[in-house]
Amino acid sequence: MFLSVRKSLTLTYVDVDVSLNVDLVDSVHGAHNVPVGRVAIIGGGYAGTAFAVHLSRQAKPSDDIVVVEPRERVGGGLAHSAVDPDHRLNAPDTIHLLYPDDDQHFRRWLDRTQRLAADPQAWDADGRLYPRRGDFGAYVAAEFAAHAAENPSRSTLSHRRGVAGAIERRGDVFRIEIVGGEPIEADRCVIAIGQEPAPLRLPGMAADGAGHAVIEDPFASRALAAIERDADVLILGTGLTSADAVAALVGQGHRGPISCISRRGLRPKDQAPPAEGPALWDRMAVQPPAFLQRHGVCQSALELLRIVRRDARERIARGEPWHGAIDEVRDAAGEIWRALPVAEKRRFLRHLKPCYDVHRFRIPPQTRNILAAAERRAQLRLQAGRVTGARRVADGIEVTVRHRGERAEQTRTYGALINCAGFSSCIERSRDPFIRSCLDGGLARPSDLGRGFDADEQGRVIAASGVAQPALYVLGATTLDCFGETPAAIFVLRQMLRILPQFIATTP
Ligand SMILES: Cc1cc2nc3c(=O)[nH]c(=O)nc-3n(C[C@H](O)[C@H](O)[C@H](O)COP(=O)(O)OP(=O)(O)OC[C@H]3O[C@@H](n4cnc5c(N)ncnc54)[C@H](O)[C@@H]3O)c2cc1C
Repeated sequence: MFLSVRKSLTLTYVDVDVSLNVDLVDSVHGAHNVPVGRVAIIGGGYAGTAFAVHLSRQAKPSDDIVVVEPRERVGGGLAHSAVDPDHRLNAPDTIHLLYPDDDQHFRRWLDRTQRLAADPQAWDADGRLYPRRGDFGAYVAAEFAAHAAENPSRSTLSHRRGVAGAIERRGDVFRIEIVGGEPIEADRCVIAIGQEPAPLRLPGMAADGAGHAVIEDPFASRALAAIERDADVLILGTGLTSADAVAALVGQGHRGPISCISRRGLRPKDQAPPAEGPALWDRMAVQPPAFLQRHGVCQSALELLRIVRRDARERIARGEPWHGAIDEVRDAAGEIWRALPVAEKRRFLRHLKPCYDVHRFRIPPQTRNILAAAERRAQLRLQAGRVTGARRVADGIEVTVRHRGERAEQTRTYGALINCAGFSSCIERSRDPFIRSCLDGGLARPSDLGRGFDADEQGRVIAASGVAQPALYVLGATTLDCFGETPAAIFVLRQMLRILPQFIATTP
């Protein structure tokens, strides 16, 4: 399968570096019996769990791999532990991979476990499959369980249920404190804790405003379920998490009005129409990526914007969808990001990120249909504006908003407010004990833009001293600043398969 896809790539792109994919697939099927010792993986979302699975294929019988994760099940993490049947993957099943040389593996599992039959709505009108996010989490969990029961290297693979509260290095060994439990010692440690949701800040209201008609955590399904069906609901944010919150409300029979607000009022765009061409995994292997071949590296955020706009316009003029212009940026995001000066990265985050995000992270058709129906019956309203004040009142929360382009403010009382404002942008301000212990103990330092930990090309955590640590790695969403495109599962997979050979080559 892999070879035939690769052949078709040469027709599309001038220069294809096949070695990257060969290396990555080799790292999946690579030489067994390489000693990895005791490995602790902190965080059992997609990143930590998939890494554990791949590592267990290359370890040796005496090796001990433990994933520390507070949830009952590993594999789901924040995104893929969703229990709401309307919370779907934001791209088809074939790009949600665990094994890069088998993009049908997840679908076969869905079929075998009858989940496909139980979810006919997963198919869109074009015959593409958008499974439930919870099903993807269950699939990753099942693969973990299968490897824990028996893996090619016969190493020990286990889930330690708990929260890592602190980490310290004692000589060559890491000691990881588990909240309320026995500590763990490990020769190597991988941090895969994801991103922290942004704390809710409402002007005029104390930080402890949550709890009274205010739902700070949009993933708290019980809190959402408790919202009165006729309540007037305000959702802060208009992106994919906000769309999920609307879908959850509609799904539970909400009758009251729902307003979503963000500064620009941008909503996620629709998926691209189906197109022939190489699979995403193979596109990601093209070196240099198509964007760099055509435009070179960008020196500024403005240059990037101009290129993408021009490219999108040209595509539309040729009768093609605009999506290809953004897809090329996505595929080259790591290279583009690393080449931008820090000041330009900041400019991108301040001015372009909201626009990039809605074009890059597209809405599943099923969710789009739910939102469109709610808009048609005038239940859902999207607003561009800024919350300028909030206060608790007897029957909910009174919120003042200044709409974009207007001077006057409007005040309205809502029965519930849901925070879907995204992720924390400053790890330095985190109060999470584990993150604090990494930073305060000097094992890690914030990345240049402060959204996660600093790491080198191999994913090794850079200590406060500036030195990359040979036995401490970081993976997944926490490395956003270093690698540019780490939030999506397929990019996390590429990142971990690049790290794996180096990881197993460094004998403890
Ligand atoms: C709402 C939403 C929808 C998304 N949809 C998609 C999608 O459709 N497709 C896609 O490819 N990507 C999607 N993503 C991106 C998604 O985040 C990535 O795909 C990927 O799951 C990130 O995995 P992760 O392991 O880095 O982080 P997470 O999934 O956040 O996992 C981190 C884990 O670490 C654990 N943890 C944190 N701190 C500690 C600690 N101190 N001790 C122990 N454990 C700890 C947490 O409990 C959590 O389970 C979505 C993201 C969100 C937020």
